[in-house]
Amino acid sequence: MIFGPGDVLDLVRDGRATTRGEIAQITGLSRVTVAQRVDALLEARLVEGIGTGDATGGRRPVRLAFNADAGRTGVAVVETAHAEVAVTDLAGTIRGRELLDVDVADGPEVTLRRVSVALAALLGRDADRPLLGVGVSLPSPIDPCSSRPSEPPILPGWDAFPVAGHVAEQLGRPEVPVVVRNDADVMAYGEFSRLAERPRSLFLLKVSTGIGAGMVFDGRIFQGDDGAAGDIGHVRVPQAEGVRCQCGATGCLAAVASGRAVARQLRDRGHAVHSGRDVQALLAQGDPDAVRLTREAGRTIGGVVATAITLVNPGLLLLSGDLASPALLSGVRESLYPATLPRATRHLGVHLGHLGGDGSLVGIAGQVVQQELSPQSVNERLA
Ligand SMILES: [Zn+2]
Repeated sequence: MIFGPGDVLDLVRDGRATTRGEIAQITGLSRVTVAQRVDALLEARLVEGIGTGDATGGRRPVRLAFNADAGRTGVAVVETAHAEVAVTDLAGTIRGRELLDVDVADGPEVTLRRVSVALAALLGRDADRPLLGVGVSLPSPIDPCSSRPSEPPILPGWDAFPVAGHVAEQLGRPEVPVVVRNDADVMAYGEFSRLAERPRSLFLLKVSTGIGAGMVFDGRIFQGDDGAAGDIGHVRVPQAEGVRCQCGATGCLAAVASGRAVARQLRDRGHAVHSGRDVQALLAQGDPDAVRLTREAGRTIGGVVATAITLVNPGLLLLSGDLASPALLSGVRESLYPATLPRATRHLGVHLGHLGGDGSLVGIAGQVVQQELSPQSVNERLA
């Protein structure tokens, strides 16, 4: 293996090496070559020296750290009824953000124009650092080859739309790389990236207006061959027999256990709620109907997730999205454990996500950085 500057950056970024000596030890490169690689990274401001082994002796800094201020990302998280745009540093720290009302049913052109205008304004306000790339999260399966939405069950008119090219063009920056990912995938990656102890595999269940799952294996999102991995909202369940889902079919898990479904059940009981967000507001007030129905939704979801957990055997199961609450967590646990062998769940942590809605922004920014600062990309750029 040839260790270029990008490979050295990788070692510094994930903390495996913090000194030139450690880099030499791990890579087997000579001291001279290590110095060249580090100098290239210092020059590009991607790493910085911290401390000076001897402050008065004029020695070069001993410890090296990733410089998250070397650039920024522009990100957009598009949900069914709203979108959020943000500018982050290269560690995913949010520097500026704006929430927008959008309706994905208006189609990709209208929605992405609004998102791009707001993102361009945010980027214009914080223009001193170079833009590494742009990320867009969509509530849709994303084809891993074309990076386009792939037969989205709840995004009419978005199938195969060239989101990346369109956003780059709308921003007036056709050269900027645009990364497009599924919403549950980026939420999973965002949570993963902020864990102090990272499991080898993580499964995240996002229960908002719809239901989706994201998986991170060995530090990478698992999309499946067609980008459909984790789209579990449309698995058929007996509890939903004869109930129409937003995708047009009947019997889907989302038809009875999504935020949209719980909102409908609450409306039937006289509450003025329409979306997952409205349910979230009622849950926050401790409304007994919202708590009971969300717990019931959790039980139904847990029955489906039990199969996924048995197949994947992850180290961590996180619940996120609008309905993520103690009620949802109880419901999922109630049906998950009886339906799985102890071996599959013995070491499984089952918790609420830690980042809330920010998980998506952090995750899509992290995906831009993972792509644009991959060893290969950096080696090419600094060659
Ligand atoms: Zn469906």
